[in-house]
Amino acid sequence: MDSYDVVIVGAGFAGLTAARELSLRGRSVAVLEARDRIGGRTWTDERLGRRLEMGGTWVHWLQPHTWSEITRYEQHIEPSPSSTTVLWIADGRAHRGSPEEFDALIERSMDRLAADSRTWFERPYEPLRRPDLDQIDHQSVTDYFDRLELTAAEREVNIGVWAEHFNGPAVVSGLSQAMRWCAAASGNWRLLHEATSGYRLTAGTASLAAAMAADSNADIRLSTVVTGIARTDSGTTVTTANGTRLAAKRVICTLPLNVLDSIDFQPALPAAKQAASAERTASQGLKTWIRVRGEVPAFTGYAPDDHDLTFVRPEYTVDGDTILVAFGTRAHDLDPTDKAGVARALRAWRDDLEVVDVTGHNWMADEFSRETWPMQRPGQLTKYLAALQQPHGPIHFAGSDIANGWAGFIDGAVESGLRAAGQVNAALRVS
Ligand SMILES: Cc1cc2nc3c(=O)[nH]c(=O)nc-3n(C[C@H](O)[C@H](O)[C@H](O)COP(=O)(O)OP(=O)(O)OC[C@H]3O[C@@H](n4cnc5c(N)ncnc54)[C@H](O)[C@@H]3O)c2cc1C
Repeated sequence: MDSYDVVIVGAGFAGLTAARELSLRGRSVAVLEARDRIGGRTWTDERLGRRLEMGGTWVHWLQPHTWSEITRYEQHIEPSPSSTTVLWIADGRAHRGSPEEFDALIERSMDRLAADSRTWFERPYEPLRRPDLDQIDHQSVTDYFDRLELTAAEREVNIGVWAEHFNGPAVVSGLSQAMRWCAAASGNWRLLHEATSGYRLTAGTASLAAAMAADSNADIRLSTVVTGIARTDSGTTVTTANGTRLAAKRVICTLPLNVLDSIDFQPALPAAKQAASAERTASQGLKTWIRVRGEVPAFTGYAPDDHDLTFVRPEYTVDGDTILVAFGTRAHDLDPTDKAGVARALRAWRDDLEVVDVTGHNWMADEFSRETWPMQRPGQLTKYLAALQQPHGPIHFAGSDIANGWAGFIDGAVESGLRAAGQVNAALRVS
């Protein structure tokens, strides 16, 4: 049986970070990755005539852990196109206006939410700092907006904006998570919008992931599905689907929360970890890329979460055509590769666009993620976060799902990978 100081399960950004940190400290490290590629929920692929991101895309200097990786590996960023026109659906029809006119519809509620976020999450990297968090944590984003006495149009637009942020229906979207995002942007929601969709990596997320992998001495084994992690007298034994067994003093498990229950842990995980995985995250949506005929001037579309797509925006031009990126809240109703369905949903904003082709990856149907970007439901912060971050004997946990700061982002994955690597290194030093 091969033996390592540390086995890391998953080669997304959390796993790659931990692998680099530990291997550069002289630890022997194996990374076991189920897919035939690294990067996890980031995936730069050639589609529709150019390089596109199927998963995580936008990065920002406001995200400290991501930015430090960008600096370290000399990556470059480029802006997404900014639009002078916004189309929004309210009262059952499409409205057209300037970004300022659109912002006027969300300003009142967003200012309030951003201010409240500073009260509840004054230090965003200590999300559980306030002992009375349960006062807000049981509420959804919808509950919050319902109390603000918004006009019908304001309510619909706000719901659409947050449904896009959550990649899921607003009614299951935890208010505390929305506040944590605002707090991470220092209570400035305009900056939050810039940080979450303003700039992308010029060479793609795959370039950053590859640089991190190349900087590590870890033994990265692709197409290796972990099925079991058992505690032993000397540490752990990790079992894979093809029957291989590896011994490790410590394990770092970076699985997305929604697939944590796909591994047989011995002894079984504590009840809170099991319950969190069974409850699932709020995100259940899709991201799709749409190639439309001709060059389309920049615009942004928002729709309430009862629409199949809640957000759309042109991102690139290719050979005289335009490639739009769009998000929806229910992947079980609309697959990102369903050309007819996506074209139908796009017509809510515009019926003048000819859809040439669509592409995407259904992360909800993907057995190694079953979620898109991790977003908490009402109550999950106070019920589960602390328990999810706890090691289970020699098994440690990392991943964007359980990050403190920019949870749900690449930044959260890197943050959690650093933390887990630090814990494991300290434990190995002692032993
Ligand atoms: C559509 C979409 C859009 C997003 N947009 C953004 C964005 O614009 N900006 C941003 O910062 N973030 C974005 N994100 C979120 C970001 O991509 C993730 O939060 C981050 O990449 C998660 O990294 P991770 O390492 O925690 O998890 P993952 O990347 O999911 O890594 C976990 C790894 O574990 C592997 N695995 C699972 N099961 C097993 C098993 N049994 N055995 C072995 N390996 C296993 C998986 O294959 C995966 O590689 C987006 C995500 C999606 C899906």
